[in-house]
Amino acid sequence: MDSEFDLIARIRVRAGTRADVLLGIGDDAAILRVPAGHDLVVSTDTLNSGVHFPPDTAPSDIGWKALAVNLSDLAAMGAEPAWCTLNLTLPTADGDWLDAFLDGFLELAAKHRVALVGGDTTRGPLAITVTAHGFMPHGAALLRSGAQAGDDVWVSGTLGDAAAALRQWRDSQPVHPWLRARLDRPTPRVELGLALRGIASACIDVSDGLLADLGHVAIASGVGVEVDVATLPASPALTAACDEASRVALQLRGGDDYELCFTAPPPRTTDVLVAARHADVIVKRIGRIEAQPGLRLREADGTVHAVAPHGYRHFDPLCDEMDRA
Ligand code: ADP
Ligand code: MG
Repeated sequence: MDSEFDLIARIRVRAGTRADVLLGIGDDAAILRVPAGHDLVVSTDTLNSGVHFPPDTAPSDIGWKALAVNLSDLAAMGAEPAWCTLNLTLPTADGDWLDAFLDGFLELAAKHRVALVGGDTTRGPLAITVTAHGFMPHGAALLRSGAQAGDDVWVSGTLGDAAAALRQWRDSQPVHPWLRARLDRPTPRVELGLALRGIASACIDVSDGLLADLGHVAIASGVGVEVDVATLPASPALTAACDEASRVALQLRGGDDYELCFTAPPPRTTDVLVAARHADVIVKRIGRIEAQPGLRLREADGTVHAVAPHGYRHFDPLCDEMDRA
């Protein structure tokens, strides 16, 4: 059995570094340098076993996801990730588990040149808190509050995949491997967020579900949103996995996709598409911002009706299912 200090030593030898880390793991605190002309953007998120990932999730996937959900928040601001800290609460000091966790965590960190600069290691029920730090040129952030009536609403990638995997897992069905990968290894859309600086009027990452997150944008911006149901992007795996009604429910209310949902004025359409190509991700126009507050769905037959902004958790208690497993 390892001690807390053995675990920290394992982390320390594997954590990457960068020139702007003046002092990383090993002292009482890290010393970091923000480039001139930039602000520091900070985001933190906790993953609890059985709440934020199924208990059978591979440790390397937990590591990936713990960082991914934080990089997704930076992406939604249009920030450039730089550093992170890692607070680990582990039931036992298991060095093999930690090594596997670090495989996934550091694989994603290396992709985005993020240095792990510190953290804390304690004993208790498995929980992981990551804090991610990024840079933003003064005044360039993509806020939730910038959407204006007349803007188009866009989303990256596909929606509902992670929730579909969770549903299959909950129902003890074979979980489609591609859907399970979307749940376990979400892709933070960092390059897209950066490319949308100066183009998107508002941006949020889809963590709680499209309607829930669009609801945040609508409230923050003092506007309403109409979503064209027929335009919601679906993966082939999702389309094959369920009937149309449950597919649409998963796309609208499923969480954990970590796609970016953003708004832009129609004259910026070409710029949006160029940004998406540059970031190598598909984006789709799924609706529009309106002056009238509230969320509305436009169905394929043209009828429009108001919807509540609640996310997946409230209409289908998957979290409770995970707790019981
Ligand atoms: P202190 O008692 O001063 O908080 P710790 O023993 O908790 O010191 O941490 C020693 C060093 O190891 C610090 O630099 C801290 O940031 C780092 N550290 C501890 N746990 C982790 C972790 N899980 N991931 C990364 N760095 C960690
Ligand atoms: Mg400490």
